[in-house]
Amino acid sequence: MSYFREAINFMEEYIPGEQPEKEGYIKLNTNENPYPPSPLVEKKIKEALGLGKISLYPHPLGGELRERAQEVYGLPLDWIVVGNGSDELLNLLFRLFLDKGDRVAYPFPTYTLYRTLAFLQEAEREEIPFPPDFSLPESFLTSPAKLKVVCNPNSPTGTFLPLSQIEKLLSLSSCPVIVDEAYVDFAPCSALPLLQKFPNLIIVRTFSKSFSLAGLRVGLLFAHPDIVRGVLKIKDSYNVGILSQAGGAAALEDMEHMRKNVEKIKSTREWFSAEMEKLGFLVYPSQANFIMARKERRDLKFLYEELKKRKILVRYFPQWPDSLRITIGKEEEMKTLLDTIQEIIGRVNV
Ligand SMILES: *Cc1c(COP(=O)(O)O)cnc(C)c1O
Repeated sequence: MSYFREAINFMEEYIPGEQPEKEGYIKLNTNENPYPPSPLVEKKIKEALGLGKISLYPHPLGGELRERAQEVYGLPLDWIVVGNGSDELLNLLFRLFLDKGDRVAYPFPTYTLYRTLAFLQEAEREEIPFPPDFSLPESFLTSPAKLKVVCNPNSPTGTFLPLSQIEKLLSLSSCPVIVDEAYVDFAPCSALPLLQKFPNLIIVRTFSKSFSLAGLRVGLLFAHPDIVRGVLKIKDSYNVGILSQAGGAAALEDMEHMRKNVEKIKSTREWFSAEMEKLGFLVYPSQANFIMARKERRDLKFLYEELKKRKILVRYFPQWPDSLRITIGKEEEMKTLLDTIQEIIGRVNV
């Protein structure tokens, strides 16, 4: 017998990427940034600690972090919500819009947290397969769902939809549309300019990838003030701690640092993708800080396991067994990975 809600008993667990306890791994499984964050982040966090503020509650709306976001992204304050990571913001949005039995639509494969959040609401999931060119499926554009979600650039594929497609989606949808831009700093452009035109657009961002702050848990949401009001109504009053607010604000003060790291990662991504193709993998064109490498109709679990034995972690998803998702690390790490893959597949003859 179980004390849980029935929906929880039937729910698939969300399985996060592994975080090894031991040192010495080349960690390419959860799309973290291999380069450290701006030194200003540590400085501002220490300052915040020194002010003895941690005995008080933090600013409920994010304080200086929200003000910095206003400057950097050029939106009024009442268009911005600060979150405890973007996962919290996604969580709040699903709770805000979906009752039991309501339909949420998203193209698939994508970030598997959307499925977990739909389960929690007991919402109906409309998971619509991407066509081979990874454009938006027609039935997604025209779906009468209560909520639509699109991850752009998409995870785990890394593929990117041009703004024209996002605009078409917004025009054809009468429901709220979440655009999850976790990886957008690695891509050519953002949907931010569409916010003024489409009051149903909600953009969610994270500091975990491009800003190298996965451990701090900071995310941002941009939307029309009517939607922002709803999110603020249901969020925990003090959802983002003082140290996270200080660190997040500092990161936005040093955009130059983030952009430099992003440029390094993008150039490593281009070189690494070409090398993987030389090894016979199909590599989807990526605009993110990872790539999806595929060997059609092969199960790549053995490769994932052999790499793990050699202390290299990549991501294997049992639902897409012929592919591995590989985070772009430092160039030396990627060289080691290439040599190791070559050694393994040379022996097993994939
Ligand atoms: C990493 C990731 C997130 C979560 O970001 P946090 O801010 O660390 O919670 C959200 N969406 C996608 C697609 C991601 O890859």
